[in-house]
Amino acid sequence: MSLRKTKRDAFAEGPTLDDRLATGDVEQLFRDLESLVRGDDDPGYPSRWGDVADADPAQQRWVVHGLDLLARNADNAGPGFSGPRAASLIVDRARWRRFEPGAPRFEEEVMSVSGWLEAALPSSLALPGPAALTRLAEIHGRSTAGGAFDATALTTSVLPGLKAELAGEALWWGASSEPEDLSWMESVAASIQGFVRDQGPSFPSAHVAGPLYDGFDYAASVLDARAADDDEDTRLAFLRRRVHLADALYAAGYDHARPDHREILDDLLDEWLADDPELDDLAGLLLGHSPSHEAGERTYVHLPAHVPTEAWGPRESWRPHLHAVMVHEFVHVLAHPAFTEAIETAADGPLLAEGIADLLTADLLGVLVPDHVWTVHGSAAEIRDLAGADQVKAAYYLGRVEFVGLD
Ligand SMILES: [Zn+2]
Repeated sequence: MSLRKTKRDAFAEGPTLDDRLATGDVEQLFRDLESLVRGDDDPGYPSRWGDVADADPAQQRWVVHGLDLLARNADNAGPGFSGPRAASLIVDRARWRRFEPGAPRFEEEVMSVSGWLEAALPSSLALPGPAALTRLAEIHGRSTAGGAFDATALTTSVLPGLKAELAGEALWWGASSEPEDLSWMESVAASIQGFVRDQGPSFPSAHVAGPLYDGFDYAASVLDARAADDDEDTRLAFLRRRVHLADALYAAGYDHARPDHREILDDLLDEWLADDPELDDLAGLLLGHSPSHEAGERTYVHLPAHVPTEAWGPRESWRPHLHAVMVHEFVHVLAHPAFTEAIETAADGPLLAEGIADLLTADLLGVLVPDHVWTVHGSAAEIRDLAGADQVKAAYYLGRVEFVGLD
């Protein structure tokens, strides 16, 4: 990203912006800059002067300096940048501004909240070449012509191993598990959100309609997983999440893009739960200690909120682990809706979504919880090697799924 940071205002001649603001000619100044940023007048975007007229002088100053910065940089944003939208966003976001003109982070803030960065970051990225696209299509299960899904095979290839795994995890949670300090978890959540928001020009902070700007408050969204509903549906959903991560599922011909396959899988999992009360109990118990959130849901993030027994591991390792889990869950919250939607068209969609979230988690953990090893599921690392690390971020955080061959 390169910005024109020269001291010169968008108007080459005449008094400076602050001089013009001081003379009281705010409306004309705003309208001039607004039309510069908007370029061709688009009747779909009426002038926002009405909203700026009532704003306080500090807010007006932020808007005027923001528009000025955009006017000087609109041309190098790359395709996808919308001047009318940016001019409007600047007005919308002025109330929540964090940096005044002249502050070191002011320019970054303007370029992020206006959508400039959202267009500029991907504009310099290369699309995958033909060989990479062929391999990506294979990974996404799009190269095979819908084979048969042998669901019954899962009862031998997945169920016994999964049940043993869940039984092992159940030992982590004694009836007397001590509750984790929720205020500690809330402060961790706030620090994770603050880090992602403030780490500089970055893919997550470029998503102008994303949770970093729509009022989402991670700390206020932290909820003890035990407070989640425990019923037939949530137990099924828990089991489905676990089975979605099993390679054997895809080896059996499961294609997530096919609604009939999803239905067959759910019927099978329902059968497992009905036939095996032990499995049903395990699902109920672990549900209360497992992170989860609804895709696209930005209200609550359920998190394990109890300290596990020694069967899990040494107590001093728990908080670093929980911290890492909370980073991972925040990465899920940051997924662009277009990415989440595109994933549903891939045979290995759920595994792919998890693997890419894992990959991006590992990326953030390198700074936030160094030395913490995070497992990356499925073929996500190969996708990154084929498409590029920034391309994966553009797909995940900005919904530019063409960069990973998912359009
Ligand atoms: Zn996950």
